Amino acid sequence: MVKRTGIGIDLGGTFIKYALGDEDGTILKKGKRPTDSKAKNNIILDHISEAISEMQAYAKLNGLRPRVVGVGTPGCVDVQRGILRGGTPNFLHWIKVPIAEELKKRNHLPVFVDNDANLMALAEAKFGAGKGHKNVICLTIGTGIGGGIIVNNELYRGSNYAGAEPGHMSIKHDGRRCRCGGKGCLELYASATAMIAHFAKISKKAGLTVEKDINVKRIFELFAAENRQAAETIELSTNYLGRGIANLMNIFNPTRIIIGGGVAGAGEVYLKRVKNAAFTYAMAQACTGTNIVGARLGNSAGYLGAIGFAFHQLDNQSPLKE
Ligand SMILES: [Zn+2]
Repeated sequence: MVKRTGIGIDLGGTFIKYALGDEDGTILKKGKRPTDSKAKNNIILDHISEAISEMQAYAKLNGLRPRVVGVGTPGCVDVQRGILRGGTPNFLHWIKVPIAEELKKRNHLPVFVDNDANLMALAEAKFGAGKGHKNVICLTIGTGIGGGIIVNNELYRGSNYAGAEPGHMSIKHDGRRCRCGGKGCLELYASATAMIAHFAKISKKAGLTVEKDINVKRIFELFAAENRQAAETIELSTNYLGRGIANLMNIFNPTRIIIGGGVAGAGEVYLKRVKNAAFTYAMAQACTGTNIVGARLGNSAGYLGAIGFAFHQLDNQSPLKE
């Protein structure tokens, strides 16, 4: 049987990444083009539409007919209507945009939209490190901590599409103030940003000069060279992340926890410590049979998840399950 094809869009602040793929997650053609996060919405929508047109043209040349478009965007999305509900910190005008309707007008295909972190999580669960698992939690450790929660093969979004923000679970009641309005959020203690800040702080305290372009990769290199401050930084941040994961395991009891993003690129040296902490703090029954693994799809997770999600919505047309 010929597999159906669809187009996936991953909208970022500087680039739109996109692909034509089939419903089983095989990519047939991919592309990337710059976008401008300060541009007016019509311009950004045109950029996305041009990416879709490019994939439609490629499909036509190859005798294919894409059925559907999936779009991942930063921000909180009304999935049922394909509308961005609020704004998003990285874009200037990208607020309350009726994305699905606008793109449908331009490209004449059904369009489904969801939050980008949700779609990355869905991609890993469907096609990547969580394939074959029904209950999966994905965490992306980068500048902040994002993620997605899949329960019984469905993304869990909450009542107003505002749930599943693991980076903003509080792990320190008297902790630092967070941009979300909360205090002591996980991303303030376990993100790449937090690691770099902590490393710089304790290095300075020890009278050491901190490299100007210090980053997480460098901290892991220093750790391998037995740098004390790097070791302390990694110990502390993996301990915090492990605690956060233990909370998630106690609540959701998933069989897979997938860790992606820049920091996870450090590999087993990082994951091993996260696992140790997580399994120490979680309830025994909540983490029996749970595995914590690295993400597999890297940069393609965004558009792969968008394609998987679009077919899911197409096949389960509204009213959508929430
Ligand atoms: Zn927060």
